[in-house]
Amino acid sequence: MKILVLNAGSSSLKYQLFNMESSEVLAKGNCERIGAGGTITHKRPNADPLFEELNLENHGVALERVLALLCSDEYGVIKSISEIDAVGHRVAHGGEQLKESSIVTESVIKYLETIVPINPLHGPPALAGMKACLELMPEVKQVAVFDTSFYSEIEDFRYIYPIPYEFYENDKIRRYGFHGTSHRYVSAQLAKCLGKPIEELKIITCHLGNGSSITAVDGGKAIDTSMGFSPQEGIEMGTRSGSIDPTIVPYLMKTKGYTAQEVEDIINKKSGLLGVSGISNDCRNVNEAAEAGNKRAELAIKILINGIKKHIGSYVAELNGLDAVVFTAGIGENDWTIREKVCDNMDYLGIEIDKEKNKNFKRGIPFDITAKGAKVATWVIPTDEEYMIAIDTQRLANK
Ligand code: AMP
Repeated sequence: MKILVLNAGSSSLKYQLFNMESSEVLAKGNCERIGAGGTITHKRPNADPLFEELNLENHGVALERVLALLCSDEYGVIKSISEIDAVGHRVAHGGEQLKESSIVTESVIKYLETIVPINPLHGPPALAGMKACLELMPEVKQVAVFDTSFYSEIEDFRYIYPIPYEFYENDKIRRYGFHGTSHRYVSAQLAKCLGKPIEELKIITCHLGNGSSITAVDGGKAIDTSMGFSPQEGIEMGTRSGSIDPTIVPYLMKTKGYTAQEVEDIINKKSGLLGVSGISNDCRNVNEAAEAGNKRAELAIKILINGIKKHIGSYVAELNGLDAVVFTAGIGENDWTIREKVCDNMDYLGIEIDKEKNKNFKRGIPFDITAKGAKVATWVIPTDEEYMIAIDTQRLANK
């Protein structure tokens, strides 16, 4: 079975074509600058990547080109679109109604349109991707996989914000949680690595990338997570502030005359590692500057570490125990210094890592960094949201 996974951003469209029998990626790529020019990078194993500059007016045009490339004699991996058995779409937000991965139907699309106001950045491009597929490959089953689904069973006292209840009832303001596909994937991988049923495990998964979130997983189910109504809540991120005192927003608007949009840009695009360090949103650059003695870079890293530690501590309290901690995504998978600092002085909670193993970890595979005799297992597990989406798509398409 061949499954095409699509991840549409506001001006991008990432794709991967999987052969599910061999779990192989046959081709993958990224269309960028959609609507403002356009580029495509198209990759196949053991072949030079193709880079094209062309006019990609919208997501439909980009998808058309992707399908042509996948089927082309020169750069293709299939003979015709009919070889694609199903398409899986990464959809950030499923709102309150779409609690599980779903076949894309008229009613799914209609519902997703109604929740665009609470998902303004990711909703429209995801919808554009789905509509383009319906038009270009109407015979092929499509599945939407939501980042929020993993959190659909968290309890109300963890998802309701303590503001007037009408805002939940009428405006659907609540914690939704994001990165769920990644947290779901790495927690399942961890259980496999430990050779234990996930139902018996209490896990804290740390997805640390440009966007970061931490999730408490009890028996395979997420019980709490750091991101909330939007991916803005939680720990410090590349350019996002994470949680801040909410009165900072009206205070800035009143005293500086900023508009709501301007303050949103500040907390979303100019804060986090970038805002504190004044150097970069990229953890590598901030680390380098901190090592060279830049105080604000050092501070940005300390804020990040402290935020991760506080979340781990509070989730141990919520889980009433802990079997394992997982690090994943760009920073979690690659940056041993961040992992070392997070796990330092956590022995009270049973978290102790082998510093040598952590430093000499192998990239791209699940890697155990637990210290000998530690009560809690600590692992680095590469995330693979696209593969998880492909698995869900296969399951639903086969029904
Ligand atoms: P992501 O959003 O998951 O792609 O992660 C992006 C973040 O991962 C950036 O802050 C990068 O600095 C960080 N990152 C990626 N590769 C490395 C690496 N080799 N070493 C340290 N950090 C890395």
